[in-house]
Amino acid sequence: MKERYPRLEINLAHLKHNVARVVERCGSCGIQVAGVIKGATGDVEVARQFAEGGAAFIASSRLEQIEDARNAGIEKKMMLIRIPMLSEVEDVVRLTEISLNSEMEVIRALNEEAGKQGKIHEVILMADMGDLREGWWDKDEMADAAATIEKEMKHLHLAGIGTNVGCYGSILPTVEKLEELVAVAEHIEKRIGRKLEYISGGATSSLLRVWDGNIPERINLLRVGEGILLARDMDVFYHYDVSDLCQDNFRLKAEVIEVKNKPSHPVGEVGVDAFGHTPEYVDRGIRRRALLAMGKVDYGDPAELLPMEKGIDILGASSDHTIVDIEDAEKEYQVGDIMEFDVNYATLIYLTNCRNVHIAYV
Ligand SMILES: *Cc1c(COP(=O)(O)O)cnc(C)c1O
Repeated sequence: MKERYPRLEINLAHLKHNVARVVERCGSCGIQVAGVIKGATGDVEVARQFAEGGAAFIASSRLEQIEDARNAGIEKKMMLIRIPMLSEVEDVVRLTEISLNSEMEVIRALNEEAGKQGKIHEVILMADMGDLREGWWDKDEMADAAATIEKEMKHLHLAGIGTNVGCYGSILPTVEKLEELVAVAEHIEKRIGRKLEYISGGATSSLLRVWDGNIPERINLLRVGEGILLARDMDVFYHYDVSDLCQDNFRLKAEVIEVKNKPSHPVGEVGVDAFGHTPEYVDRGIRRRALLAMGKVDYGDPAELLPMEKGIDILGASSDHTIVDIEDAEKEYQVGDIMEFDVNYATLIYLTNCRNVHIAYV
């Protein structure tokens, strides 16, 4: 059968290598890994690598992805990492063993539902340590919630606390931040008179502390997506050595449908583009350009695409087309040729969400 494009190739062996490597590195610091599959839209083969590579939990913000993983026979504890909607509580209890929480109303509903389903559902309470997305800001109120769960909610088990950083507020998981989190945990432990099983100190950005070897001892759970899927952020943004991780797990391939020499400045009266904007066009004279059969619908933002070859300049895109300057490319592109791109996290999410993008496992 002919290969179809645009095509996202996923190297499962390399992905599994990354899972195993991150699990091993974290393990040596006494940390378990929840493998976060939302970056690849919960693709079940991706989820399977997380499971086989040794992640302790399969985690997602979306129940649909967790349900797919379950239906694919993946037998790990499932974790919901977005605060549950009240409207999904029944499915949270049905599909997951553990969820991250920050609202008593939701927690009460989870307790009631777990009772109905004859289950004990585990909860991790989220502390907002300054990133200002989810979690309790008032830590006394959080400790009250913990005590209430411990005392009154028979169908829930308070498994631990956690935090999220580097998502909205771009706050770094410094040693001090994580020690503050441990202090919150110890405050709660005093209130409930026992140890918590989990102190979950964040996501990929907290791997920086694992690499540095200075993560506070009581942090024992991280929820890692990007650092396993792409392993780019630690390298590109923080210049950490991730040479033991594969960075070629995902490759995007698109087909050239037109190659022509054209002016680089639009000709005629300027109005707005397909999205109502008027971009700046630089006049570089007549240039050779290729048109690719993929567009914003497939990957989101053309500026985030990372051409594998030097001399390729992405000029822009509409819904279904990408326009690329190939004047300085080494290769002589022809109609029918394939152009390759590396991807970042945002692009990966779009690609795996788009039914026009054909996923191939290599
Ligand atoms: C997305 C998410 C993660 C994983 O983030 P990465 O940066 O991809 O590792 C972890 N925790 C929560 C709550 C998330 O929403």
